[in-house]
Amino acid sequence: MQERIDIINQRIAAACQRAGRDFFDVTLVAVSKTVAPKLIRQAIEAGVRVLGENRVQEAAGKIPELADVVAGHNVEWHLIGHLQSNKARRAVELFSAIQSVDSFKLAERLSGVAAELGKRLPVFVEVNLGGEDSKAGVTPDEVLPLCERVAKLPALDLKGLMTVPPFLDDPNEARPFFRRLRDLHDEARRTGIVGDEFKELSMGMSHDFEIAIEEGATLVRIGTALFGART
Ligand SMILES: *Cc1c(COP(=O)(O)O)cnc(C)c1O
Repeated sequence: MQERIDIINQRIAAACQRAGRDFFDVTLVAVSKTVAPKLIRQAIEAGVRVLGENRVQEAAGKIPELADVVAGHNVEWHLIGHLQSNKARRAVELFSAIQSVDSFKLAERLSGVAAELGKRLPVFVEVNLGGEDSKAGVTPDEVLPLCERVAKLPALDLKGLMTVPPFLDDPNEARPFFRRLRDLHDEARRTGIVGDEFKELSMGMSHDFEIAIEEGATLVRIGTALFGART
């Protein structure tokens, strides 16, 4: 595990260097969906500080089991998969951040629950750049209007944008999608509809994270390259 993490970190550092960026501006999100708690524990002990899960129910089974190691190491859990409004309460209880906000209704619900629990909740708006029916997220046209409304919700901190671009064999072909997300991000900032905390771009997975970093990713979500193929 330590070796796998070291290799990923070296690849992140090399991509940062190519792009003239600081290694510490890119956060590794270890995507632990379908991964057994024992292996997740090893990853945390080897230095992983942010974990990504894509289903509330699965996370609810694993997170309590890892409470001891999480508490000792200041670990954050991020929800990166689609969230239904009726699971919003459980999600706010379990996660430090929700990267998959794709409607105002969901954002309102999250803000309401977070306020009740006396929390401020970091969120990302998920964008579906490829127009794929199989993927969650709002269309590029909807991004700015949604960000404007979400930024005003009292218990949410709108941190930035997240995307899963179409899978393309050549990761270089994903570059225009990453660039598009960065452009949308810059536009939201320029128009002043979001706050200073809106500075994150969650993009890039095992197959294409180096390209995403070259295009400005601040969080890369890596599963198989860390934990091996999902069974
Ligand atoms: C599974 C998943 C990842 C990680 O994918 P890998 O190809 O295994 O690195 C990243 N982001 C989301 C939203 C995912 O569902």
